[in-house]
Amino acid sequence: MEQPIIKLAIQKSGRLSEKSIELLKNCGIKFVSNSSRLKTQAFNFPMEILFLRDDDIPGYVADGVADFGILGMNEIVEQEQNVTIIKKLGFSKCRLSIAVPNDFEYTSIKSLEGKRIATSYPVLLRNYLKQNNVNAEIHEISGSVEIAPTIGLADAICDLVSTGGTLLINGLREVEEIYKSEAALIGNSNLSPEKQALLEKWQLRIDAVEKAQNNKYILMNVPNEAVEKVCTLLPGMKSPTIIPLQEKGWSSVHSVINEDKFWDIIEQVKAAGAEGILVCPIEQMIL
Ligand code: ATP
Ligand code: ZN
Repeated sequence: MEQPIIKLAIQKSGRLSEKSIELLKNCGIKFVSNSSRLKTQAFNFPMEILFLRDDDIPGYVADGVADFGILGMNEIVEQEQNVTIIKKLGFSKCRLSIAVPNDFEYTSIKSLEGKRIATSYPVLLRNYLKQNNVNAEIHEISGSVEIAPTIGLADAICDLVSTGGTLLINGLREVEEIYKSEAALIGNSNLSPEKQALLEKWQLRIDAVEKAQNNKYILMNVPNEAVEKVCTLLPGMKSPTIIPLQEKGWSSVHSVINEDKFWDIIEQVKAAGAEGILVCPIEQMIL
């Protein structure tokens, strides 16, 4: 019987490409990524990788040309294709916002009544205007939305923003955030059991990478009388590891701590007597 293989579509070149490739590499999936190729096969995982324009990914996944895709939530929601959102991936974070020229007298969303808004995201914009009972004219354009007001094509724009630098350069200011986006993994809604099983195998690795990125391995020297106190401060996977040092009266305490709590914990263990604290990245974390 032929071995099942999963087909994953990622962006060929753009803001999602590098991070998508990095995610696969962190999952231990090895392949040659050559910018002129349209597809490639992983050496050590039954996966074929297709390099496409991000706009084409939802349609290909819905049709089953690809089994999975990685792209921005903004594009997934915009396209309204029948695909399953498997997991949000936490990278390529941005927001879809409405922005107006600096001299536009903006008081509330009602200020957009009857105005022309240029965007590449008509579905998301239409929904937002509808929820707010505003009637505006939506002009769909595919690129360089931010110049639309300057050339007299629109009164306002609705576009993706991360730092706001592009808006600033074009004399625009952000007035409404309508959608918060990040990259996500989508899948065809009718996967065969074989492909579902491969997804589970792959997802175990994605989860391990995610956990590893959010956690650090720390080790520190602690005087024996402070070990108990320090251990109460450290969460760890089960409980901290304690190894005696060659020097009498001292121990080395090892633990895994979450990035969110990192600095608080470091301060507390230092205050409790810990010294020589080392912090190391974790490559994989399987619970
Ligand atoms: P393609 O040629 O593949 O159609 P594109 O021009 O449509 O590329 P990019 O600009 O590379 O797309 O953006 C792809 C995705 O990256 C967006 O849909 C969004 O999810 C995310 N993104 C867009 N702008 C930003 C930003 N400023 N910061 C972070 N992520 C962003
Ligand atoms: Zn695109």
